Amino acid sequence: MRSISILGATGSVGASTLDLIRRDRDKWRVVALTANCSAVDLAKLAIEFDAEVAVVGDDACLGDLREALAGTSIKSAGGKQALCDAAARPVDITVAAIVGCAGLGPVMAAIEQGGTIALANKEALVSAGDVMTAAVAKHGATLLPVDSEHNAIFQCLAGNDIAEVSWITLTASGGPFREWSQAQLEAAAPEQAVAHPNWDMGAKISVDSATMMNKGLEFIEAHHLFPVGLDRLRIVVHPQSVIHSMVEYRDGSTLAQLGPSDMKVPIASCLAWPKRMETGCKPLDLPAIGELTFFAPDETRFPATKLAREAVHVGGAAPATLNAANEVAVAAFLDGQIGFTRIAAIVAETLNHDIEPAPRTLDDVLAVDRAARIRASELLENA
Ligand code: NAD
Ligand code: MG
Repeated sequence: MRSISILGATGSVGASTLDLIRRDRDKWRVVALTANCSAVDLAKLAIEFDAEVAVVGDDACLGDLREALAGTSIKSAGGKQALCDAAARPVDITVAAIVGCAGLGPVMAAIEQGGTIALANKEALVSAGDVMTAAVAKHGATLLPVDSEHNAIFQCLAGNDIAEVSWITLTASGGPFREWSQAQLEAAAPEQAVAHPNWDMGAKISVDSATMMNKGLEFIEAHHLFPVGLDRLRIVVHPQSVIHSMVEYRDGSTLAQLGPSDMKVPIASCLAWPKRMETGCKPLDLPAIGELTFFAPDETRFPATKLAREAVHVGGAAPATLNAANEVAVAAFLDGQIGFTRIAAIVAETLNHDIEPAPRTLDDVLAVDRAARIRASELLENA
C-alpha cells in the first residue's frame, strides 16, 4: 500500500489522479486532500477516499468543510499555513496540482520533507526556479513531471546522459486560436478561450494555452527540470497533440513520446514510476489520426513564448514577475475586464518596470510575486 496526498484535489488534474486511484483503491492510502474553497466537493472526495485530512486554502470556507465532514473522523483545516502543514505530512507521493503561484508554499513544504512530488503546478517552478531546484537537491526530494510535455521528455531521457542531448523539442497544440487573425484574437471571448480542441483542463491553463503562455511557462519549466541550456530548447506547434515532446541526441536520433491527449497517462507514469500502471485510456489509433503536422510558432500573433524566453534569459526575478503578471491578466480576462490580446501586453508592460532583485529564498519569491501582482493590477486599472 502506498500513501498519497493531492494538493488541488478538486481540480482537473486532481480529478484525473483520483480516477486512477479509484481503479486500484486497495493499493492507496489517501493522506491529505486540498482545495481552495470548494468545501462540499472536497468533503465528498475526502469521505470517498477516507482521507486523513481535508484542507481548504481559503479559511472562510472552513465552516462549510467542517459541516460537510460532520460525523466523520476526517480532520479539517483552513488557510495557507494549513495547506503547507498538510503538504508536509510524510507520504510516498504528493501530487502538486494547485493552480498558480498559490501552490508554491505547499510544494516547498513537500520538498522539505525530501519526498517524491509529482509536479503539475508549473507556475510554482517557474516562479521559484533555482530556489526550488536547490531545495530539491538539499532535501534529497524527487520531482516527477506531470505536465505532459515534461513527462514525455522525462520518459525519452530515461537511462541516457543529458550531456548527450542536442535538442529538446516541446510540442504545442497551438490552442483554440491557432488559425485566428489578429483582429479575431482581439475579439476573442473567455468561453472561446477555455474550449480547447484537444485537452479538457482548468480555466487558467486553458487561457494560457490559447495565448501560448502555457508553452512559455513550459519552456521555463523545462529549463529547470532538464538543464540542457536555453539554446537547446525549442518549441514546435503540433496541432494533433499526439507527440507530447521529443529529445534529440547528438548522434541524430530523436526519441518521442506519443499518447492520447489525456492527463491520466502522464499522471499514471508518475504514480507508478519507475513501473507502469493501467489507465483505462483508449490506445492511440494512428490510422484514424492519419497525419501528424508541425509548424514553427507565430510569435507575432502569440508573443507570450517570446516574453517567457526573454524572461528566463534575464533570469533573477523576471520569470516570477512574468508568471504573476500573467495570473493577474488571465483572471482579468476571464472576468471580462480586458480583451484577449491585452493579456500578453500586461505581462510585457509589467516586465518593463523595475524588477525586484533576484530571489534567494521562498520569501523572496513570494515578495516578487506580490510586487508584480500590484504592478500588473495597476496596469489593468490604467488600461
Ligand atoms: P483547476 O483550476 O482545474 O484546479 C486547481 C485546483 O487548485 C483546485 O483544486 C482548486 O481548488 C485549487 N486552488 C486554486 N486556487 C487555489 C489557491 N489559491 N489556494 C489553494 N488551492 C487552490 O486547474 P488544473 O487544470 O487541474 O491545473 C492545476 C495545475 O496543473 C496548474 O498549474 C496547471 O498549469 C497544471 N497542469 C494542468 C493540466 C490539465 O490538463 N488540467 C495539464 C498540465 C499541467
Ligand atoms: Mg503541458
